[in-house]
Amino acid sequence: MTAPVITIDGPGGAGKGTISQLLATRLGWHFLDSGALYRLLALAARHHSVALDNEAALEVLAAHLDVQFVAGGPGEPPRVILEGEDVSDLIRTETAGNDASRVASLPAVRAALLQRQRAFREIPGLVADGRDMGTVVFPDAQVKIFLTASPGERAQRRYNQLKEKGIDANLSSLLEEIAARDARDSERAVAPLRPAPDALVVDTTGVGIEQVLDRVLLAVRDAG
Ligand code: C5P
Repeated sequence: MTAPVITIDGPGGAGKGTISQLLATRLGWHFLDSGALYRLLALAARHHSVALDNEAALEVLAAHLDVQFVAGGPGEPPRVILEGEDVSDLIRTETAGNDASRVASLPAVRAALLQRQRAFREIPGLVADGRDMGTVVFPDAQVKIFLTASPGERAQRRYNQLKEKGIDANLSSLLEEIAARDARDSERAVAPLRPAPDALVVDTTGVGIEQVLDRVLLAVRDAG
């Protein structure tokens, strides 16, 4: 039996990570943070002095990426280990996100990471978080959700997250970075960011996490 999949796609800051993790915990399913793979690849490229536009070298690096996801504490995201080093915090910086978006625009890189992502699909099921989960990686998913929010709200959420971690941030430059990343992710030739035709689009602007989770759980129940 093939394990069921719920895909949660959407732009950065729409609440995908939080909702996907809560959903996976609630259902007792596995969780794939596909963005982390692109962030890890970009970090590995920096470690090995590979240029972020060297598609052939990045393809090889992607195929041999030595990475482990280790379950975090209750309600915490998994720890991410790259080549034996815990890089969970390092991959969450704005620089890592922008680097990830650059390597993610390369077709050979996306192809090299495809099987690795599909391998997360295991019984009893998988919640997959990303940009192309419902369109490319798991087109046969049972439930597809596309989460959005206004750029202003997404920038504000990022700002709050960074402040919470004690990191200095500037709201207007975050807004600019979000707009640039959205444009790069939506306009790229391969697997551009867009809802699958059969996805349920949920706008989370001004909506609390619990309400969004209820909406998603309702869609999961309707599909089952
Ligand atoms: O979701 P997250 O912000 O961690 O993703 C970082 C970047 O990785 C995104 O901006 C996007 O360019 C890329 N990405 C992607 N496809 C995915 C997940 C992430 O292209 N499935």
